[in-house]
Amino acid sequence: MSRCAKEDSAKKPPPVKDDGKGFGNVDKELSEAIGKLTYKDILPLKEKGYEETHEFLMKVIDLLFEYMKETYDRGDGVGAKDEGKGKVNARRGKILEFLHPEEMSQVLDLEVPDKPKNLQQLVNDCAVTLKHSVKTGHPWFFNQLSCGLDIVSMAGEWLTATANTNMFTYEIAPVFILMENVVMKRMREIIGSSFSNGDSILAPGGSISNLYAFLAARHRMFPGYKEKGLHSIKGQLVMYTSDQCHYSVRSCAAVCGLGTDHCVEVPSDSRGRMIPSELERLIVERKKRGDIPFFVNATSGTTVLGAFDPIPEIADICQKYKLWLHVDAAWGGGLLFSKKYRHPRLTGIERADSVTWNPHKLMGTLLQCSTIHFKEDGLLISCNQMSAEYLFMQDKLYDVQYDTGDKVIQCGRHNDIFKLWLMWRSKGTEGFEKQMDRLMELSEYMVKRMKESPDKFHLLLPEPELVNVSFWYVPKRLRSMPHGPEKEKILGKLTPVLKGRMMQAGTLMVGYQPLDETPNFFRNIISNPGVKESDVDHLMAELDRLGHDL
Ligand SMILES: *Cc1c(COP(=O)(O)O)cnc(C)c1O
Repeated sequence: MSRCAKEDSAKKPPPVKDDGKGFGNVDKELSEAIGKLTYKDILPLKEKGYEETHEFLMKVIDLLFEYMKETYDRGDGVGAKDEGKGKVNARRGKILEFLHPEEMSQVLDLEVPDKPKNLQQLVNDCAVTLKHSVKTGHPWFFNQLSCGLDIVSMAGEWLTATANTNMFTYEIAPVFILMENVVMKRMREIIGSSFSNGDSILAPGGSISNLYAFLAARHRMFPGYKEKGLHSIKGQLVMYTSDQCHYSVRSCAAVCGLGTDHCVEVPSDSRGRMIPSELERLIVERKKRGDIPFFVNATSGTTVLGAFDPIPEIADICQKYKLWLHVDAAWGGGLLFSKKYRHPRLTGIERADSVTWNPHKLMGTLLQCSTIHFKEDGLLISCNQMSAEYLFMQDKLYDVQYDTGDKVIQCGRHNDIFKLWLMWRSKGTEGFEKQMDRLMELSEYMVKRMKESPDKFHLLLPEPELVNVSFWYVPKRLRSMPHGPEKEKILGKLTPVLKGRMMQAGTLMVGYQPLDETPNFFRNIISNPGVKESDVDHLMAELDRLGHDL
C-alpha cells in the first residue's frame, strides 16, 4: 500500500496544501476587510472590536454547523453507491476520507508560524481541520464506546469553553460547583439509596476514576500510607479483577506500587463474566502466602464483550474477607436508568464501596465526562487533601466545603458537568431511560438480523448483554466450511483486511480486536441514539459489499 503511494507521488507534482475547499456548503469568505485583520484587531486586544469578533466567530460557527450536518448525512442512503460519481458529492454519506499519515501531513499545513496569520486564514484552518476529521457522530460510525454527537450536550460544551473556568474552588465556579453537587447526588441515588449520602467527583476519564477508587480503598484500610508510604503496610497488597477487565485496573497496580503481578486476574466464563468461586479460591491462595488482599474490581459492561460480572456473589465474598468492592460501570452504567435492562445486570451495585460511571459512553454526553462515586463521605478529601495554602484557605468568606479542588489529585479540574447537566435537563431522567432502551433494542435488532444470515455472520455470543455485538463476517469462499478453530484463524486474518477496506471506502467503521485465544473479530457498538434500523441494515450490506470476495 505505502509503496504504491510512493510510486504515485513520484509521478505527481508536489501536493498542494488543502485550503478547505469541498467542505460544506457555506461560503468560507469573511468580508474582505475583516479577512485581512489579525488577532490584534479583535477582542481582547481591540477593546471595542465586537463587530470584527462577531463576524469571525459566526463564520467559525457556520463551519461547525456544516460539520454537524455532514455528521448526520447518510448521503440519502446512496453513500456506498455514490462512489466515483464526481467530486461534488464525494463527501456525502462518508465518515472519513482516509489518508495515510504521510499523505495527511502533506495535505495539511500544520506549521506554527513566526508571524501572525490573518482571520481568513484561521477560518480556512478550521475548515481544513473539520474536513479531514473522522465524524465520530456519524450513524455509520460503530467503532468506539463513545459514539454520536448530542446537540444539547455540545451546546453545553460550547458554553463551558466560553465560561472557561476551573472547578477547584466555589470562588470561581459557583454555579458549576452547585450543579455538580446536584447531579452527583442524583447519580448516587440512582446507584442506590446506600450511596445517597456518599461523595462523588468528576474525573478525566474512567481510568482515572478507577484510580480514585483504588486510592480511596487503600486509604480507608491503611490510613498511614498517605504520610508514611509503602513501608507502613506490612505485607504485599493484592487486588483482584477479571481477565476481561479494562486495562486501567491493572494500571492502578503499576502506578500505585503494587506491581502488576499483584493484580490477580480472575478467570471468566464463556460469556466473559468473572467466576466468583475462582475469585474466592485466589483470595484464599494469596492469604495463605501471607499477602493482604484488599480490593476487588467487578466490571459492569466489559470493554470487548459487554459482560456484567455477578455483583451479588462477588459482594458476598468481599464481605466475607473484608475487601473493598469497586464496580467499574464506566461502560454499562447507563443501564442503571433502565427498568427493563438494569436487572439482573447491575443488581447488587448498591453493595459496592465505589462505582465508576462514564456519562461519555452509553449516555452520549460529549467527551469527556466520567464520574466516580463513593458510599462513604469524607474519604476523598481525607485521602487526597494537601491543603495548599494559596488555594484552599480555611478562612474564606463562604463555606469552604464547596471547594472541591482538594479532594482530587489534580489541581485544576475541567468543567465536565455543564454539558451533562444541560443534557439531563433537556431529556429528563425519563429521556435517558428511553435512550438506553432504544440502544438495547437496536442491538437486539442487529443480533436478530445476523442470526437470519448465519452463513455470512457468525456471532461470538448469541445473546450479548449490552450493545457490544461481536461477530465475524464470513466471505463467500468460506461459507461452506464448518465453523471451528481452523476457520476462526482464517477469519482472524481477514478481519483487519475488511476493516482496511471500510476505512478506504469511508462508509462504515467497526472496531476489531483479538481476545485471548480468539483471533481478530469485529466488535460493533451502538451508542449513538441517532442510529436507526436502516443503519444496521446498511452496516450489514456494506460488510457484504466490501468483504464478500475476500
Ligand atoms: C472505557 C472504559 C474505561 C476507561 O474509561 P476512559 O474514560 O476511556 O478512561 C474503564 N473501564 C471500562 C469498563 C471501560 O469501558
